[in-house]
Amino acid sequence: MTSQAAPAKPLILIIDDIPANVEALGEVLVNDYDVQFALSGSKGLELVRQQAPDLILLDVMMPEMDGYAVFAELARDPKTSKIPVIFVTAYSDADNETRALAAGAVDFIHKPINPVVVCSRVKSHLALKCHELELERLNGELENRVKERTYELEERTRQVEALNIALEQRAIQAEAANIAKRHFLGNMSHELRTPLNAIIGFTGLLQNQVADKGQLEKLARIARSANHLDAIVNDIFDFSNLEAGNLIRTTTDFELKTVIKEVSDIIEPAACAKKLVYTTEIDPSVPGILKGDAAKLKQVLVNLLGNAVKYTHEGSVCIRVLLKRASVDDVDLRFEVQDTGIGIEPSKLNSIFEPFVQADNTLTRQFGGVGLGLSINRKLIEMVGGKMGVASEVGKGSSFWFTMSFKLGKPQTKLVPPYLTPLETLKAHHAKAKVLLVDDDFITQEIFQEVLGEAGLLVDTANDGLEAVSMVVDHRYDLILMDVEMPLMGGVDAALKIRSLPGWGQTAIIAISGNGYDEVKDRCIKAGMNAFLVKPVPLEILYQELDKWLNTGTQN
Ligand code: ADP
Repeated sequence: MTSQAAPAKPLILIIDDIPANVEALGEVLVNDYDVQFALSGSKGLELVRQQAPDLILLDVMMPEMDGYAVFAELARDPKTSKIPVIFVTAYSDADNETRALAAGAVDFIHKPINPVVVCSRVKSHLALKCHELELERLNGELENRVKERTYELEERTRQVEALNIALEQRAIQAEAANIAKRHFLGNMSHELRTPLNAIIGFTGLLQNQVADKGQLEKLARIARSANHLDAIVNDIFDFSNLEAGNLIRTTTDFELKTVIKEVSDIIEPAACAKKLVYTTEIDPSVPGILKGDAAKLKQVLVNLLGNAVKYTHEGSVCIRVLLKRASVDDVDLRFEVQDTGIGIEPSKLNSIFEPFVQADNTLTRQFGGVGLGLSINRKLIEMVGGKMGVASEVGKGSSFWFTMSFKLGKPQTKLVPPYLTPLETLKAHHAKAKVLLVDDDFITQEIFQEVLGEAGLLVDTANDGLEAVSMVVDHRYDLILMDVEMPLMGGVDAALKIRSLPGWGQTAIIAISGNGYDEVKDRCIKAGMNAFLVKPVPLEILYQELDKWLNTGTQN
């Protein structure tokens, strides 16, 4: 008996060798399900393989192949193993029931059948099967989603990794470009400073030797131009040094009044030449002796005051020092540089602190400059923990300000009697001292020989580090002036070698470099040199340093 095909209804297969049993079950189910039957186990398996039913009602006791054997066959095949099977039997003992359920049957119905029980069990198991299928489907979906997501994530990870590699490569390239830039700037600076050193040095010497007014005037112009060029080289150099985060702080005790005086000595002549009133005001409550980086303070003040004079046609330029905060051991000071010059447009007040920016490019020709001073100043001030800003009104003038902290200092003892110039002092203390000058540049050798000769020093020259090392083996020197970059053997290696020779542990070695990078200075000091000067060295500084180190160094 086969029910009419109705695709929406689940298909039930009854396997029983007794037709009356099949008929009884069929009658119960036919209204709600499609029903198939088989009168033997083997026939039943055949039908299952043709069209898998949704549920099987399986008689236990059958000839040839009993219910357990049929069930075992169904369980073996993955295509049929999931079909729910309800055993139907006349046995009522618990053993049979247990055996059937243990084998994997979903349920057990006793004969004679109770129609209500059959319907209810079939319905429940079909519903269960439905849920299982739905669960499987959902699981499958979930697995697919997880797979998709995993793939997406892997893809993202791959992209991020590729990006990281690209970024690393960029960083390596940027670092290489930076190193190349620093090398280039270092070399450029060396190349520029060596001839500048010659120009400034010879000009200085001629100024001392020439009496003709016209010639002196021309020499003064050469000196001004060379100093201007020197300031530009310094700006470019400082900028790249600060950009790389390099800042060496030199802390000394100093008299604030002296620093302001030194700055004024540089600025005042230019202000006077433009008929500007130049004034300095120091708040009386500011302590006289401070401890801090006087060189940086001076550098920033000279720059701001230089700008104030440069951008002011008439009126005044004033420097003011105010006490912001004081404690028992330190102070915060505020410095103001005020002028009555051309002023700055409000829209440019921030950008002028950016490198290479000038408030009005059309003014560049009139005023000169490269637009680096303020950005260097601000960086310098920020690196030592201060702040810098400006207030300005076009046509009325500008007021640049910055803050800087200092410890309270102790009064210094002066080495140089005030009535002698550095040259005279050096001459008085160390005439006939023997100096070895090591430099590969012939013109530099010439200048230093003249400059040192003026002070009465006796100078030998070596053309490179190797020659210097062989000379110190046979001669006694009181001081060595050492260029850093030289062929065959540079100054750093030469200093290391000399320091390792017996009896040369204390003799002063002063590095004179065209490359003022802090790392070059570091290398020189680490190699055992005592001081580091950057070409072109102002004569006064050179004489002072020579005097200081000839006093300090233990002579051989
Ligand atoms: P530079 O003076 O070499 O151009 P700076 O960085 O020192 O470079 O200054 C940047 C710009 O800020 C200048 O070009 C100028 O336009 C403006 N500036 C600086 N100081 C003053 C000032 N005291 N008065 C008017 N403008 C100023």
